[in-house]
Amino acid sequence: QIPVIAIDGPSGSGKGTISRLLAQRLGWHWLDSGALYRLVALTAQHAAVSPDDAAALAVLARQMRIAFPVVEGQGKVVLNGEDVTSAIRDEACGALASRVAVLPEVRDALLDLQRRFRVLPGLVADGRDMGTVVFPDAALKVFLTASVSARADRRWKQLREQGVDANLNSLYRDLEQRDARDRQRTVSPLVCAADAVKIDSTDLDIDGVLGRIMTLVLD
Ligand code: C5P
Repeated sequence: QIPVIAIDGPSGSGKGTISRLLAQRLGWHWLDSGALYRLVALTAQHAAVSPDDAAALAVLARQMRIAFPVVEGQGKVVLNGEDVTSAIRDEACGALASRVAVLPEVRDALLDLQRRFRVLPGLVADGRDMGTVVFPDAALKVFLTASVSARADRRWKQLREQGVDANLNSLYRDLEQRDARDRQRTVSPLVCAADAVKIDSTDLDIDGVLGRIMTLVLD
């Protein structure tokens, strides 16, 4: 079996940064599954499809032509030939992604696509249900958490670095809302897999979290 490391957790727990760096360090592939849900949301917006029309969204999800090229050291997201790297990072797109992610038809449509990222020498997969649904046989499962305020703070700093002037209070509320939706949905809710190692990153920096995961990998 091609090895997979599943890194799941709520929004802003740092799993994106951590899993990207981990993949780099191991020389493995990286799957940012949240980007796929964001791409479905963006496609729906472009096609003026309602976020409640599960059947139409599933068709769109299956038709997406996506690529994750690295251009001058920067990871890009290309959808049907268009560079949508920054468009999908938008808070509105994230909120819409969390709405379409509730629909079993959409989740189902993305299942094979996600599993196709499992190629040699290995895959670091980041999301909400990597260890529970998409790669239940992952060699290592990590569930990354942090307090809501730590996560809102990180998201705020990240946005500021991108030149976006966000409001900390509304980021906090958005995170809480999105977490609740992710945890309460009936299909593939955000839960810690029974065999996952939980890491609370509230008081850890990136190197601290990476260090802990590397210890688990080398174990
Ligand atoms: O991780 P990110 O914030 O980019 O994900 C956007 C949304 O997609 C999340 O709020 C979540 O609702 C959904 N998602 C999911 N399952 C995944 C990854 C993301 O439901 N594996």
